[in-house]
Amino acid sequence: MRIASALFVVVLAVPVVAWAAQDHPVGYKDTPFLPDGKWRVHDIDRPAPPVITPGDGTAPPSDAVVLFDGKSLAAWKSGDKDAAWTLVDGAMEVNGTGSLETRESFGDLQLHLEWASPAKVEAESQGRGNSGVFLMGRYEIQVLDSFENRTYSDGSAASLYGQKPPLVNACRKPGEWQTYDIFFKAPRFDGEKLATPGVVTVVHNGVVVQNAEPFLGATQHRALATYAAHPATGPIVLQDHGNPVRYRNVWVRKL
Ligand code: MG
Repeated sequence: MRIASALFVVVLAVPVVAWAAQDHPVGYKDTPFLPDGKWRVHDIDRPAPPVITPGDGTAPPSDAVVLFDGKSLAAWKSGDKDAAWTLVDGAMEVNGTGSLETRESFGDLQLHLEWASPAKVEAESQGRGNSGVFLMGRYEIQVLDSFENRTYSDGSAASLYGQKPPLVNACRKPGEWQTYDIFFKAPRFDGEKLATPGVVTVVHNGVVVQNAEPFLGATQHRALATYAAHPATGPIVLQDHGNPVRYRNVWVRKL
């Protein structure tokens, strides 16, 4: 049996060694051009992607702009004033002082944040743990306590408010931390005319709930969203809707 096994290994090993000895060039210059006309398939001269250090589930990646680290509201303002949400247990909590907007502006982005609706359930429908993430200050991904809380579907957690419900309801219980990972391609305008709509993918607690979904326009309440031309970048806004929703671990990467 042992001899048979040894023979088997040798026979198997020969093609493996032959394969490993082959050349593995890092690229080619004799392949067809890709549609952009700039780079060939497997082009040896195409620049390598920048090296970053990825996050580990809690720490942000090395190329992220940290918007809230649990301690400082410095990245945010509220109208013309400094942000004044309450700092509590490494989170910032809505307290009726107004919505927060980033001092910096963003266009295409990857945004990570964690939120928790109030542990004490006090109202229903849109009155329960309502907040929101407005991309470019205009396009809202709804934040709401949608755990056993019926409301209009295009206003539930992770909806494009007033436009598109999430594919599923992935909400955790009131008071529990939840994650949003948002991937956004900003709208493009040709003068005053819309060229391409804003498109968003939203991952809620690890589940894709909006899959490359186009925004119909800037978020409206009880009205149809429409586009109006605006600058290529805008602030991220967290909504103060009067409910003490908490946020933590907020970071963004410009794309
Ligand atoms: Mg809202």
